[in-house]
Amino acid sequence: MEFINLKAQHEYLKDEINKKIETVLESGKFILSDMVEEFEEKIADYVNMKYAIGCANGTEALQLIFMAYGIGAGDAIFCPDMTFIASVEPAVMLGAYPVFCDIDLKTFNIDISSLEDKISETIRSGNYTPKAIVGVDFLGNPAAFEEMKKISDKYGLLLIEDAAQGMGAIYRDKKCCSLGDISATSFFPTKPLGCYGDGGAVFTNDEAVCNKIKSLRVHGKGKTKYDNVQIGLNSRLDAIQAAVLLVKIEVLEEELVKRQDIAGYYDRELEGVVKTPFIENGNRSSYAQYVVLAKNDTEKKRLVTALSNEDIPTLYYYPNPMHALPVFRKYGYLDKDYQNTFEYCNRAFAIPFSPYITIEEQKKIIEVIKRNVEN
Ligand SMILES: *Cc1c(COP(=O)(O)O)cnc(C)c1O
Repeated sequence: MEFINLKAQHEYLKDEINKKIETVLESGKFILSDMVEEFEEKIADYVNMKYAIGCANGTEALQLIFMAYGIGAGDAIFCPDMTFIASVEPAVMLGAYPVFCDIDLKTFNIDISSLEDKISETIRSGNYTPKAIVGVDFLGNPAAFEEMKKISDKYGLLLIEDAAQGMGAIYRDKKCCSLGDISATSFFPTKPLGCYGDGGAVFTNDEAVCNKIKSLRVHGKGKTKYDNVQIGLNSRLDAIQAAVLLVKIEVLEEELVKRQDIAGYYDRELEGVVKTPFIENGNRSSYAQYVVLAKNDTEKKRLVTALSNEDIPTLYYYPNPMHALPVFRKYGYLDKDYQNTFEYCNRAFAIPFSPYITIEEQKKIIEVIKRNVEN
């Protein structure tokens, strides 16, 4: 069984994808190009933002944001303790100090009171200036951006949305990628909207910021590529990826509807067996992953082994809290501040999920889980 069935999706779309890629090959235009611009317009439209700027990957989408806002040495950046390292890695590379916040065990997203505590602590200690919050739509479940916005306004911080897992998700009538002051996403193949390589995008409504990021992604170009006005990156989306994305965006909404049905079936069958995902009423998750919590670490390991014995893959998103990663241990974060994240890591595992999973596959997964939990 596939964990995310990209092969079934390709089988479904391959004639159109091949045709579209062929037009790129014949055009001889491979980097940025009209095809990329067409995709940028479509995706900006889809998430209701004025500008989308395609770039090389989701990590650099975040890096371009940090660079555009001049984040660096002396700045503190706040993010959840449960995310992928790329949420803060580029800020740390630019010299900023990462501050991790505990998560909410119900939503698995950032815990708002931990966020406010960490901001106050940082101000009190006086070593770093709070600069930005990176809110993450973890596993595709929109984070509490209205609550985060109140806090970012109160302390004068930039609110960045890391929507790498949230494409197509909806938060109180707004699409993910439009929830922060500025947002980033990834088109890594296994994300809700994936290309056939690396790709990413930044979303903003601010024309000046858009222009700055368009310059930063091409070596800080000025009017031309060779009158550079700032230090930038080589971080461009290529035309072949845009071609794939232009085909896939046409079925994105249809896939999101399927994702809701598939998640609904898991929810109903696994309710009370394991803890199923909590999505706030009215919100829509993109279910980048479908993660459940076992009762404890022992039961998690038993379930994962039982599934594996039946050739059913599972994965941990993610096995370690951010603050406990070897690279961040030197900062001396206290484990006691992250009890929910630890509990999540002990109990959480992801089961196969994609718009192309079959009902037979779902039934088999459900049966193995039910057979192996302790009553
Ligand atoms: C995948 C991911 C990224 C990074 O995206 P890449 O395209 O792999 O660089 C950033 N943040 C989160 C939460 C992600 O899941």
